[in-house]
Amino acid sequence: MRVFGLALVALGLMLPTVASAKSPEWDTALDQAVGYLQQYLRIDTSNPPGDVTKAAAFLTGILRKAGINHEVFIADEAAGKVNVLARLPAKGKARAKPILLLNHMDVVPVEMERWQPRDPPAFLRKQEGGSGTESWKSRSRDFSGQDPFGGEIVDDAIWGRGALDMKHMGIAGLMTLIRLKQDGVKLSRDVLWLAVCDEEIGGTMGAKWMAEHHYALMDPEFVIDEGGSGSRGLLSPDARTVFAPSVSEKQVVWLKLVARGTGGHGSMPTGDNPVEILQQALARLMARRAELEEAGDHPIVSEMRAKLGALADNRYTNAITKNTITLTSFQAGVGTPPKVNVIPSEAAATLDCRLLPGGSVPDFLARLKQVLGDERVSVEVTYQPAEPTVEATSDTALFRAIEEVVKQFYPQAVVVPSLLPGGTDSRFFRAKGAIAYGFEPLILAPEDLDLIHGHNERIDVEQFRLMVRMLYEIVTRVARTPSG
Ligand SMILES: [Zn+2]
Repeated sequence: MRVFGLALVALGLMLPTVASAKSPEWDTALDQAVGYLQQYLRIDTSNPPGDVTKAAAFLTGILRKAGINHEVFIADEAAGKVNVLARLPAKGKARAKPILLLNHMDVVPVEMERWQPRDPPAFLRKQEGGSGTESWKSRSRDFSGQDPFGGEIVDDAIWGRGALDMKHMGIAGLMTLIRLKQDGVKLSRDVLWLAVCDEEIGGTMGAKWMAEHHYALMDPEFVIDEGGSGSRGLLSPDARTVFAPSVSEKQVVWLKLVARGTGGHGSMPTGDNPVEILQQALARLMARRAELEEAGDHPIVSEMRAKLGALADNRYTNAITKNTITLTSFQAGVGTPPKVNVIPSEAAATLDCRLLPGGSVPDFLARLKQVLGDERVSVEVTYQPAEPTVEATSDTALFRAIEEVVKQFYPQAVVVPSLLPGGTDSRFFRAKGAIAYGFEPLILAPEDLDLIHGHNERIDVEQFRLMVRMLYEIVTRVARTPSG
């Protein structure tokens, strides 16, 4: 399966543009960037446990070699929760607050056995004829799968957990600092690069901790983080290339529902069986879910519709056009496995709810309880970020720089501010007043989204190389002095 096929074909159509983006002075730096990403992917930073000590040592090694000022901040030494802040200072007195390139070192765990098997050796392929791959796959598991921590290049892509989320941006940001220094670009503001731990589990020891304890050291005007990217067929229903920096994200509200009743022998129904109470309440919720999810277009989404004419119809656009309520677990029963003849006295379920920015959580909860319609079902909020969801304006020098650089590399592309369905560390910076955009300058096909937190995560080598160049161009535009 070549997931990047679509992106590559489309890229091929744009060859004149891309060809002009090639420049000899970049070749060495881009080869170096690819090598760094491969090495970085070989460091297992799965979270949990999320120990990033080795990753931080690897990254500080690169910074040291490049002569770039940096500091390691230890949030919890025993658990390996550390953060790295690097800084390229402005020339003379800074004329503006810094731009910060934010990235997280941790990754989500992998299901090793579900990664795509490696290609069979050539001799076996020959034996089985041209179409032998399938029978090889079904016949033999002797050949191990792609190593999620191998950092190998296979089929023109760099494979590994974190290739798209988000070690690619970590290295791209690092290369930006290295090149700015090598090129002697005179900066009007500090350029910061912050690698954090724990993004995948809420940022407590990572971005949140840095914002709470060391914000004065950073205090950026602009932040570039993960989130929006370029795509085809994801946001726009036609084949246009759309680059969509995310300027806000949905509000996370995680709920635990618990029903209590009378336990007893399964042969004698008690009349208030909590499993049935909860199941019936959830059935009422599912039947009326659409009315709870309906919230009208957020202004960001209205702007997207206006700029693109219409939105594509898929689960991504579905998620950004309304509130969503997802039933993610249901637990009941006594014993493991649960006894079939025992009525438990409690049953529980979890709901992952995501509200559009600005939506009132108390109002939403009140309506949800009303729809559940049973006092015996309690609703507890188990997680809700303390930070309010803030929308970053797109009327900034950084947004204009993104537009200009996208046009330089992809003249036909449309740039539109977007809303992100998931949560990122950007919220800690937006809450402090920074303008944070989620923006990864690469093109993803809709199916590529399945690789993020999924199996076979990988990044197309050419896309990665272009991305490094684009990020450098964007940062240079907002950080160099007029004469720089
Ligand atoms: Zn991420």
